[in-house]
Amino acid sequence: MPPTAAPSQRVDVAVIGGGLGGLGAALALAERGLKVTLLESLRYPGGCAGTFTRQGYRFDAGATLSAGFGARQPFRRWLDRYGLPLALTPLDPVVRLRADGLSLNVPSDRGELLRRLCALPGAPVEGLRRFFEYQARVAAPLWALFDDTDLLPPLSARALLAHAGRAARYAPLLTCAGRPLSALLDRFGLTGFEPLRLYLDATCQITAQCGLRDVEAPVALAALDYYAQGVAHVEGGLGELSWALRDAVVAAGGEVRLSARARALAPAPGGWRVSARGGDLEARAVVANLLPSAVEGLLREGGAPAPLSPWARRAQGAVEDGWGAVMLYLVSEEGAGGEAGAAGEACEAEHWQLIGDAAAPLMEGNHVFCSVSGARELTRAPRGSRVLTLSTHVPMRRLLALSDADRGAYVQRVQRDMRALFAARCPRWSAGVYVALTASPRTFERFTGRPRGYVGGPPRRAGLRQYLQMSPRPAAPGLYLVGDSHFPGQSALAAAVGGERVAARLARELR
Ligand SMILES: Cc1cc2nc3c(=O)[nH]c(=O)nc-3n(C[C@H](O)[C@H](O)[C@H](O)COP(=O)(O)OP(=O)(O)OC[C@H]3O[C@@H](n4cnc5c(N)ncnc54)[C@H](O)[C@@H]3O)c2cc1C
Repeated sequence: MPPTAAPSQRVDVAVIGGGLGGLGAALALAERGLKVTLLESLRYPGGCAGTFTRQGYRFDAGATLSAGFGARQPFRRWLDRYGLPLALTPLDPVVRLRADGLSLNVPSDRGELLRRLCALPGAPVEGLRRFFEYQARVAAPLWALFDDTDLLPPLSARALLAHAGRAARYAPLLTCAGRPLSALLDRFGLTGFEPLRLYLDATCQITAQCGLRDVEAPVALAALDYYAQGVAHVEGGLGELSWALRDAVVAAGGEVRLSARARALAPAPGGWRVSARGGDLEARAVVANLLPSAVEGLLREGGAPAPLSPWARRAQGAVEDGWGAVMLYLVSEEGAGGEAGAAGEACEAEHWQLIGDAAAPLMEGNHVFCSVSGARELTRAPRGSRVLTLSTHVPMRRLLALSDADRGAYVQRVQRDMRALFAARCPRWSAGVYVALTASPRTFERFTGRPRGYVGGPPRRAGLRQYLQMSPRPAAPGLYLVGDSHFPGQSALAAAVGGERVAARLARELR
């Protein structure tokens, strides 16, 4: 039976998609007094950072831990403002990095990380000290920008003045902008120190979406502080954060519709018409928490395929240079693998970063990020069991060059390699696995609506071209894009902050 035509509702802004970018934007718009409705196609918010239920277990879909819960940081600010009861556990270590001959527990404290690296055999102590001092000088002013979205990049006279006042703090940036991080290692005499190389390579891969040799130095140096920036484990799954932000949007006066897929988008007098499951919207402006190619799809369905701006087309091109994810969702019995860990530690959530062949690229099952739920998280698995989310990067250009049949075999091979690496480096949790589900870019396409399953945002490779993409510009008049394919992007926190700063600009425009 065709869906019955529901009457359309007039709003100031329709937000399409309830990932972190859409939630951040909807909240900031509602807080500025605009009438906002957010449409999310799934029954739950969060997208790549959502938590879903299968066979009675609750798995994190993609993202498993987030920064931004420290004092004055965006998630903490929002949770406090709306009195939202999110159960957070601080992590120590944040991540357990394991490779042949390397066992590095990465703490949230930068000084302690430096001490641990300096204590490794053959560590070039003086070079490490100088490198981390320099890293802190580059990273600190960049992270400070996250606390005030107006400064990213400067869009007002007040912001320009604020930047002028900070000019001296940006000086170290100029000494490395556009260059790859690997060039800096040469400068500090650290190129031959393998544990640091592996730590940097693995950390940049999961944050800036490319490894040490490719990643642009300022982005990398800032990303290296990710674990020190209010990282916490969210009990119940990271998706609980998105539910909390959904509640914040509603508390601020916005509307959030779940199971409400936007089907088409068309220009209309005074703005846009969004056709959606459960009722259409007439909006003065639209914020799409979608890849540019998904927006083009909605415009085609709307029958008036307005071309997206060159800025939006460039954003799509950068995404296509990036990644998909291959996943394992597991349930494991506690204690089956023997080794219990340090006293007390066995109860907490754990995040592992596992490397196979240290000389090979950190992708396709040769590098796996593995998160284990905590013992107290009984909404996710029964007492005595834990749920695990394991992910690895797959280069989309390589995957899409294969035939359909070969893609299936490729994904299976990657999953087999993930299992082997997990068994070798993490027997504590691999021994007890009794439920195993899998996912591929096709799964992400189906569930998160990301065409072809591109995830994680564009790789931040060396070069200055990416700085041209920093300003939020409309993809078409009155149509803005948010999410991890747009600056600052690259994580749950950055997608939310990006949504907030686009909203700030749009609110000014609508006034
Ligand atoms: C495997 C993996 C691991 C990751 N690990 C981490 C991590 O540990 N920490 C971290 O910070 N980040 C991590 N990330 C990155 C992080 O998850 C993403 O950068 C971030 O969540 C993306 O948010 P987004 O706003 O771009 O939206 P998305 O998550 O893409 O959400 C878009 C939303 O739009 C909805 N939607 C799509 N089409 C429509 C439509 N037509 N109508 C209505 N709704 C629609 C989707 O259902 C979805 O909910 C990881 C990502 C992946 C894939």
